Amino acid sequence: MSSKLPLFNKLAILPELLTTLSELGYEHMTPVQAETLPSLLAGRDVIAQAMTGSGKTAAFGISLLNRMVVRDFTPQALVLCPTRELADQVTKALRQYARGLGNIKMLTLCGGMAMGPQLNSLEFGAQVIVGTPGRVLKHLKQGSLSLTGLKTLVLDEADRMLDMGFHASMVEVLEFVPVKRQTLLFSATYSEEVRALSGRFQSNPVEVTVVSEAAVSLIEQVFFEVDPKARVAAVMALLRRYQPESAVLFCNTKQRCEEVLSALREQGFPVSALHGDLDQRDRDLVLVQFANRSRPLLVATDVAARGLDVKDLAAVINVEMAFDPETHVHRIGRTGRAGQTGLALSLCAPAESHRTLAIAEYQDITPVWQDLPTINVLSKIPAPRRVTLQINGGRKDKLRPGDVLGALTGEGGVPGANVGKIDIFDLHTYVAVDREVAPAALRRLAEAGLKGRNFKARVLA
Ligand code: AMP
Repeated sequence: MSSKLPLFNKLAILPELLTTLSELGYEHMTPVQAETLPSLLAGRDVIAQAMTGSGKTAAFGISLLNRMVVRDFTPQALVLCPTRELADQVTKALRQYARGLGNIKMLTLCGGMAMGPQLNSLEFGAQVIVGTPGRVLKHLKQGSLSLTGLKTLVLDEADRMLDMGFHASMVEVLEFVPVKRQTLLFSATYSEEVRALSGRFQSNPVEVTVVSEAAVSLIEQVFFEVDPKARVAAVMALLRRYQPESAVLFCNTKQRCEEVLSALREQGFPVSALHGDLDQRDRDLVLVQFANRSRPLLVATDVAARGLDVKDLAAVINVEMAFDPETHVHRIGRTGRAGQTGLALSLCAPAESHRTLAIAEYQDITPVWQDLPTINVLSKIPAPRRVTLQINGGRKDKLRPGDVLGALTGEGGVPGANVGKIDIFDLHTYVAVDREVAPAALRRLAEAGLKGRNFKARVLA
């Protein structure tokens, strides 16, 4: 398949960059690069759905380096990333791509690091800044960083930056960058919030969506032949053997979902089901408990999982084979995100084997078959680390995450490290807390209240 993808030297890329790419062994573009680079090089704003492993770093890297004025030591490109790890990774990759261009200085500015060395490096100047939004903003506000000469702004893993609460900081950065610039937005998922962010930062962006071959290849796929009458037992054996931190279990029908759900529940697995019949409130709750990992297993049909915005999913289990290879790839593409290898476990009954063949052909892979694990059914299923507290108050009561966190962790409360995701809806708030501190957290809420009021709260089973 890769041989059908275009070569880099078909594009107007500097010869020095082309040489480096060929030294690195990059010959053909990845799908994301083929889709985005022509627009990127033409100076257009681009919003692209791309995950780690897709080759997105090289896509925006080639573009921003291609327009760099090497002699000018003012920052010309800013890449905002959600985490220090990603910022380090991006800087490393960009350094590699820039090595043929002469003296290009890159600087990483991340929170949690001492300011002193960052201030020193800034004095020397750098053409490329990579950093997390909070720390970059801090430098902008105190005047240690000036972006008036910026040409390219990249929002990398925009969805994760939003998840990490960087929205306000990102928007504030806008006040410090020129209006005339190129803005690139990369995100593994497109939510309303990501679109809103694009609207705020970008003008008339070219939109690119590709299921990347490269990302899919980060996924370890294993197929298991299953007796169709023993499918549910096989699912349990896989869960006991692999113990994924989180997993979506795909079924072809709602009936199958229900069958799997009730069997797993009966055995004490922390599982919910996502199906079309749920009302909005129940759907919200299912998604909250799944995302905060208090119910890290989710049984779903393809239709119900549409728009499911999951990240860092440890595993996908195909309880039955999808009807077509496209659906299969879409299912398994939900794992292996954020650079982690994902696990895709597929149960295939003899009557479904033609579907596995079609997948093998579509993905150009040789399927790896293994025997189903034999597991002692009495082996303990580990309880999730966190439970969800439901508070009967929400946005309508003007509750904000800070209020909830403050109340829980205030004097005599529970340590902040024991508190996970806080989700606020109109009438309810859900807080993930470590199982062992749940009683203390409830006590604390009853005693201290929230914003001077008392709200009912309970631990969800
Ligand atoms: P990224 O999605 O940016 O994290 O890149 C994923 C990996 O693919 C990195 O290890 C890159 O070095 C590599 N890579 C990016 N583009 C290409 C290409 N066109 N050919 C071969 N490898 C590539």
